[in-house]
Amino acid sequence: MASKFQAPRGTFDVLPEQARSRGRLERAAAAIFSRAGYEPIATPAFEDTSLFERGVGKSTDIVRKEMFTFEDKGGRSLTLRPEGTASICRAYLEHGMHKLAQPVKLSYLGPFFRHERPQAGRYRQFHQLGAECIGADSPLADAEVIMLLADLLDELKVPGVELRLGSLGSFEARRAYLEDLKAHLHAHEGELSKDVRERIDINPLRAFDSDDEGTRGVMASAPTIVERLEGEDAEHFAEVRALLDAAGVAYVVDPTLVRGLDYYTRTIFSFVCDALGAQSEIGGGGRYDGLIEQLGGQPTPAVGFAAGIERILLALDEEEPPAGRDAFVAVADPDQRGRAMALAVELRHASLSVELDLAGRTLKSQLKHADRVGARRVLILDADGSTQLRDMGTGEQRAVDTGKLVDEMTGGES
Ligand code: AMP
Repeated sequence: MASKFQAPRGTFDVLPEQARSRGRLERAAAAIFSRAGYEPIATPAFEDTSLFERGVGKSTDIVRKEMFTFEDKGGRSLTLRPEGTASICRAYLEHGMHKLAQPVKLSYLGPFFRHERPQAGRYRQFHQLGAECIGADSPLADAEVIMLLADLLDELKVPGVELRLGSLGSFEARRAYLEDLKAHLHAHEGELSKDVRERIDINPLRAFDSDDEGTRGVMASAPTIVERLEGEDAEHFAEVRALLDAAGVAYVVDPTLVRGLDYYTRTIFSFVCDALGAQSEIGGGGRYDGLIEQLGGQPTPAVGFAAGIERILLALDEEEPPAGRDAFVAVADPDQRGRAMALAVELRHASLSVELDLAGRTLKSQLKHADRVGARRVLILDADGSTQLRDMGTGEQRAVDTGKLVDEMTGGES
């Protein structure tokens, strides 16, 4: 019965058996966010294109080639959101959240869209969960958001996770550094890949990300910003490290760490998982002290992270077993269907999970079906109005008084 239609390239369906482990992950994340005071926020799936051009940065791969951009009927350019931070900063400004007690701590979860070449762990519609702490410049905020993600991965028991930590310094420090980096790249232009060579002046940091052998050779001797951090930038980085040390969070300092978005300042971090192959990053983020101002607000320090839900699930590679059902209501006679429905509803209202036959099966195949859906007990409604309770584990069966069923099945006292 296969249809000629398929989910679009780079997208996927979340089937019930996959939705279970996804649900567990989402509940774990929501609990961690809530315990640390990161309130949920939801923003639209699309925004004005200019928000991302401004917020994510015109020189980034995301804006240059990965956005799903379209015109609405009024001729406005809209884009399916490729990431969450720019939208949340837009919402922070639009709703005057700068007037609230700072920092404002927010969390989110939802679909994001990038026109990338699909492969394992890389999709065109994927899901991220993330947190943003807006209005705090303390290294405590950096450490806190890092620990939110560390906690989640720990709680879910994601294997083989490594936290990499770096710093890009402030904008001023970075500007001076980027000039030196560009000079280094220009001096070795002949050894660089075409892609990196063409972007020396647009986005030199991305050269650290290249897989090209020649480029990697050049980058091995490139200056790094971490080794030249000074003053408050150096202090900030040292404090973030000290806080992580004090909390027992393991990390490696990676001076070559870069991220695909323009807005980062100072702390950047990345959680990678060796089980994931080429797309090994589970999540990452950093500080973005210039972004709110860039979007028209007052200078406002902020830090956050985003993690890929599909990447976490791939790393976990486990299926949550089906939950089963507390009961299945079967009828020995079709005349009992009304009573079956009423009983199922009554039990459901008592928070029990209960199914009943919707397909007109014989009693024998209702019992088979009850077993298939994992029902622990079956209630068999007889033609004479009596009811049998069958324990599917032991096969034991006895008559019961339906008036006392809820108490009996919820373990309550009558
Ligand atoms: P970014 O917003 O680029 O910092 O990405 C944050 C996280 O989102 C990454 O670490 C990935 O886990 C996930 N991610 C980014 N792009 C994709 C994609 N195309 N498909 C699946 N997951 C992605």
